[in-house]
Amino acid sequence: MDWQATQAPERQPRLVAQITRMIQNERLSHALLLTGDQGTGKLAVAHFIIQLTLCENAQNVPCETCRPCRLVTSGNHLNVHTIEPDGQFIKRAQIDQLIHELSKTARESSRKFYIVHDAHRMNASSANALLKFLEEPTSEVTAILLTNQPHALLPTIRSRCQQMTLQPVPPEQLKMQLMEQNVSESMASTVSKLASSLEDALAMVEEEEFGLARKGVLKLMEALERGTAHALVQAHEHVIPLLKDKEKAERVLDLLLFAYRDIVANKANPGSSSTFPDKSALWEQIAMRSTFEQLTYQLEHIMKARRRLHQNANRTLLMEQLVIELREVNSVV
Ligand SMILES: [Zn+2]
Repeated sequence: MDWQATQAPERQPRLVAQITRMIQNERLSHALLLTGDQGTGKLAVAHFIIQLTLCENAQNVPCETCRPCRLVTSGNHLNVHTIEPDGQFIKRAQIDQLIHELSKTARESSRKFYIVHDAHRMNASSANALLKFLEEPTSEVTAILLTNQPHALLPTIRSRCQQMTLQPVPPEQLKMQLMEQNVSESMASTVSKLASSLEDALAMVEEEEFGLARKGVLKLMEALERGTAHALVQAHEHVIPLLKDKEKAERVLDLLLFAYRDIVANKANPGSSSTFPDKSALWEQIAMRSTFEQLTYQLEHIMKARRRLHQNANRTLLMEQLVIELREVNSVV
């Protein structure tokens, strides 16, 4: 699922530029912590770092064709060690074994690396063993820790490492990845706006309540076209039952917010990319008869409802009031 080191400069341009400068100036730290959601390419960036250091023909990027480059890509470089959780945790014995391996004389070149996958899954004993090792850095060994949960790591380990954060997957890219996983274009368009990683996005797609929330919000948008009474009936039937907790209610309001943002985008630039491509005909119709002032008024009221949600307002009343406010725009502006 993870992409290749060759794509690192294009997928994580700022981070890769920073890393390249540090390697060229020989200022790369001996312990790196790469953090970012699943699918952001932590392993690819780790391989990029290692290749750029070991490559025989490196310019600003590794050549990918020399022997060290190829050995890193295939996972066969003798000076690159990898640790992954054994079951639920990374165990003490694995760290001990790693330290033992690293203390042996180098065979390929003097520089050695080790990559720790899911570093937050070290238990107390293995984390302390690694910490001791990190506290006695040698110039030939570089640690690269990967995690999507940096706060679950021992603070003492975090503070020993130079932390680098990978950017979330851009919505357009996430949408393509979802469609490759056979998610429909309409669902992929919506989910890619709300999730920051493929993992989160796929979980959302599979969640029944998310599907219902999406459908409920779209039914409400249609009903709002027909009148206040219709809209209130639809809200009670399809939306209010979904406001069980604050988090779910927030998601419903976010979906509504994206619907109006779609309409604004459609008005400014017909045919622009949409969160709900299956509703583009309706959005076009609303965009045609609405002014930007009216749409702004509606967006502001959704934002206000979102704030009131966090002040623990009654969620049924909050939604009823919002429906009325979304409708009254036709008479007030
Ligand atoms: Zn190379």
